[in-house]
Amino acid sequence: MINNPSENTLEPGATLGVLGGGQLGRMFSQAASKMGYKVCVLDPAENSPAAEVSAYHVAAEFDDEVGLSHLAEISDAVTTEFENVPANSLRFLQSRLPVYPPPQAVEVAQNRNVEKSFFKEHGLPVNRCTAITETSQIEAAFASMSGKAVLKTARFGYDGKGQQVCENAATVKTAFESFGSVECVLEDFVPFDCEVSVVLARDIHGNIEAFPVVENQHKNGILDICIVPARVPEEVQRQAITAAKALAEALDYVGVLAVEMFVCDGAVSLNEIAPRPHNSGHYTMDACNYSQFDQQVRTLAGLPVAKVVQHQPAVMLNVLGDLILKEGFQWQGLQNLDNSHVHVYGKAEARAGRKMAHVNLLGSDADSLLTTVRAAL
Ligand code: AMP
Repeated sequence: MINNPSENTLEPGATLGVLGGGQLGRMFSQAASKMGYKVCVLDPAENSPAAEVSAYHVAAEFDDEVGLSHLAEISDAVTTEFENVPANSLRFLQSRLPVYPPPQAVEVAQNRNVEKSFFKEHGLPVNRCTAITETSQIEAAFASMSGKAVLKTARFGYDGKGQQVCENAATVKTAFESFGSVECVLEDFVPFDCEVSVVLARDIHGNIEAFPVVENQHKNGILDICIVPARVPEEVQRQAITAAKALAEALDYVGVLAVEMFVCDGAVSLNEIAPRPHNSGHYTMDACNYSQFDQQVRTLAGLPVAKVVQHQPAVMLNVLGDLILKEGFQWQGLQNLDNSHVHVYGKAEARAGRKMAHVNLLGSDADSLLTTVRAAL
């Protein structure tokens, strides 16, 4: 497949644009530069992790048409590193140059209610949930759940922000008001056995390549540790990959897509999607022949998705500002672990809950890697 050049392919030397200057943009840029592409970052911040390692930076807001036009002039194709870029900006760019993932797929990921309706319409497994736009809907909505529910803002929630577990309708009301009575979704609380995700890439020809299923452990709503391969039965892995691929087809997706899922009693149900590389796919940078960022570059450049192989079991640990701010923290404690790869994002200031770096540990089995990580912490 790799020897099948296409007329739509961008040659090395071309410039790839990216909306957003965070760590995902930085790792995209590093992968692009390895393959001979230049990167233009659009981000309002003067200094950002992605701009630091990229050829060009347009300092503008994400809805600034002058800035977007400048990005379009410099770039040959554009992608995004976060889902909350205004849909109008993506459409504005799409009228000038190729934009992947397609704006309509990004829009689905911008609103949890739209996302959940999309899952249902396409017959994908999803837990009970209902949209909340007014206080008057809460009583009946909570009564339709199984006694415990999670209220989440429909838009702009991330890393556990904008969500609250509720044991009764009164708590849902208080939470709804504390979120400013914005559109929310009320979800049944899922007593999951574990959480998994699938990261895949789909190219302009419709070929899909999925990375191995990842087991995800969260702490305070933020991804903490990933274990790959996930310690779930093969049947669960098959279900997870089938659902993620069906979703990518339904979205007519091009680019890298991440699908987060719950595993409950041997069955998966979809939680949310990210229309971009994902924190749970960072292990691919060291454990696989191609990383999720390599696939992002390939699909944006019009190249076919590459066949993926994982060389070794891996555990990925997120390094948050909390760890760095701890007394006695030393990078060497992580850098000197056997077969560890520390990826630092170049953020000037460490803050609690802020993602500063991640560590990929490789070894012969995931359980002993977990023991090593815990001992190091
Ligand atoms: P999210 O922002 O939807 O990915 O939620 C962040 C984390 O909160 C998830 O990874 C779960 O650990 C937890 N969570 C979210 N929704 C639910 C739910 N409906 N039931 C149980 N736990 C949940």
